[in-house]
Amino acid sequence: MKSPQTKPNRDPEVLKKKKGLILVYTGDGKGKTTAALGVAFRALGWGMKVAMIQFIKGNWKYGEMNSAKQFGGHFELIQKGEGFTWDTQNPERDKQLVNEAWALCREKMLSGQYQVLIFDEINYVIDYGYLDVKEVIKGLREKPESGHVILTGRNAKKELIDMADLVTEMVETKHPFKDQKIPAQKGIDF
Ligand code: ATP
Ligand code: MG
Repeated sequence: MKSPQTKPNRDPEVLKKKKGLILVYTGDGKGKTTAALGVAFRALGWGMKVAMIQFIKGNWKYGEMNSAKQFGGHFELIQKGEGFTWDTQNPERDKQLVNEAWALCREKMLSGQYQVLIFDEINYVIDYGYLDVKEVIKGLREKPESGHVILTGRNAKKELIDMADLVTEMVETKHPFKDQKIPAQKGIDF
């Protein structure tokens, strides 16, 4: 059977090369935010500084809000999407909140203080028309070379996919809610 592992590159020059990557986790399948949190967990293990800015507030309390506190100041989890929920009544205000959230993302990116930055659900708010993809691309171009940035959410724009170094599309093969009407489970969904 063929090994699924790609052979690691042992060229010392290649191994030394460091680059701040742009990662996109998109698609309709579950796992985008949790994949980003997995990267955060890995990076925190190296003492790296991580921040996750959430553009959309979910309906319940997520376990990661408690976990983040356990890393002290190394892991900032900021919920900016206070007003932007799925059943919004005030689109103008939501648009403003989204743009405030983006201003914070930009500030954190330009500060150069974070080795990993996660902009959770940013693809969704761009697709929704609340944030201009050109603005985001401009910000990403200005970022310091060293930091990694992860953009999550469905319907990632082609411009961002083109710019990214890594793009993973989550494909829904089976989902407990869709297939069996099993509700969201603690530790798995929230
Ligand atoms: P997760 O946060 O679990 O990694 P996600 O970030 O990929 O999920 P979102 O689009 O942010 O997915 O959706 C958030 C919520 O919707 C999660 O609670 C998740 O369990 C649920 N969900 C995600 N994908 C599906 C799906 N294909 N069908 C039904 N519910 C889904
Ligand atoms: Mg998500």
